[in-house]
Amino acid sequence: MNILHVSAECFPVAKVGGLADVVGALPKYQTLMGHEAKVVMPMHKTNFLFKNEWEVVHKSQVISDGQIHIFTIIKALNHELGFELFCVDVHGLLDREKVYGYDDDPFRYLIFQLAVLEWLKKWEFIPDVVHVHDHHAGLIPFLMKHGYDFVRLKQIKTILTIHNAQYQGWMSKDNLKYFPAWDEWKTGMLFWRDQINSLACAVKCADRVSTVSPTYMKQLSFESNGLEDLFLQEFHKCKGIINGIDEEVWDPATDKHLPVHFQKNKIQPGKKQNKQLLCEHFGFDAELPLFVFIGRMVDDKGGDILPFAIEQAFRLHQSKMNVIVLGSGNPEIEKAFAALAEHHPQHYRLSISYNEPLSHRLYASADFLLMPSRVEPCGLNQLYALRYGTIPIVRRTGGLNDTVVDFGDAGGFGICFNQSTVEDIIHSINRALDLFGRKREMNALRKKMMNINHGWHESAKEYLELYQQ
Ligand code: ADP
Repeated sequence: MNILHVSAECFPVAKVGGLADVVGALPKYQTLMGHEAKVVMPMHKTNFLFKNEWEVVHKSQVISDGQIHIFTIIKALNHELGFELFCVDVHGLLDREKVYGYDDDPFRYLIFQLAVLEWLKKWEFIPDVVHVHDHHAGLIPFLMKHGYDFVRLKQIKTILTIHNAQYQGWMSKDNLKYFPAWDEWKTGMLFWRDQINSLACAVKCADRVSTVSPTYMKQLSFESNGLEDLFLQEFHKCKGIINGIDEEVWDPATDKHLPVHFQKNKIQPGKKQNKQLLCEHFGFDAELPLFVFIGRMVDDKGGDILPFAIEQAFRLHQSKMNVIVLGSGNPEIEKAFAALAEHHPQHYRLSISYNEPLSHRLYASADFLLMPSRVEPCGLNQLYALRYGTIPIVRRTGGLNDTVVDFGDAGGFGICFNQSTVEDIIHSINRALDLFGRKREMNALRKKMMNINHGWHESAKEYLELYQQ
């Protein structure tokens, strides 16, 4: 099959979160399975752009509200990605350092999508499926079906994968002037509650819709930032497919970021040495249990309550534990995490940054990973933790519910709780500390976790079934 993925992020080109990991891995596995999978994304100004060689493959223009936007499509000459990668450059609009966070993001991503379609209608590669990811590519199914400029693309099937339904790409009606002509009888498809809503539009217009776990799929019908009725209405074409992990990038036996490698049949010495080195670096006693949090500091990740839970846990256990936090996000939450450093300098370290190498070392060295998420469509951190023998402590929601079983339940290996509250987190930390005292049981759980297969193979097959439908 010929597959074209359209996404704002793709690892290792530009990564903000899990979307990048998925778009950097799924096409690779699809290619290995004998399909032709390609990725197109905006040309963000990242290290990858400057470190690699590129070939210009297309140059054209998008006319939007009378303005001409010249665009260039460049192709990466990097064969290590495992698939063909194309980036769209629109000077001044897409060639910026951050992936998101600009006031004109809705307009930037609209022009990105128009450029992709302009190129696609002239390209000799005709995909069987255009697979769009999240709202940044959400207008594509509509424009392919109902845009007069893109009739050549009308018959091509489209799939939307929702990585996070909290963000929907809202625009006011005034922005319609930037759209190329469309069948006006279909204008309603663009709207949800009086606003242009790119995600809702994609849910309505794509031939199939998937999200990144079965539990999150069910949750969207009663909790999806205003789109609940829409998901109820479109449920027949929706499916939850759990994300896989890229086992080449995330393998403790070969991970280039780890000082010491380890295999699943010999976990203990390797994990211990990684922990020892990390604790030396941070000035911690390596005999104490090490808890880590890695991720965006936002309410959805439980970032608003976690600092209070850590504070209380330190008090309860008279600092018989160490904690390392890596992430950035909401300034208020960053402040709350920073305040902990003042009160517990012996047992707490904070890095307000995005640091890929450090994240790998934390997964490999920690005893426990904290994920008190309110919303977690799939969650990749817990899957990396499982692969690196680190016990995940998770709230039962979305993909966390589908991938972690409490060690108190049959076949379990993690620690699960139900409510996003300080009390539930503390209760789970207490259970973790108890477990840490039972070394044999800990090691048995580690072994069990590391033997679970979360590779892409099964999930890639499920995507293929969706394409075939
Ligand atoms: P989301 O996409 O909602 O942010 P996911 O769990 O799906 O959450 O994916 C998060 C990905 O981003 C993981 O690969 C995680 O290791 C990585 N990550 C998040 N924050 C950081 C950070 N500060 N430094 C390094 N990696 C990070």
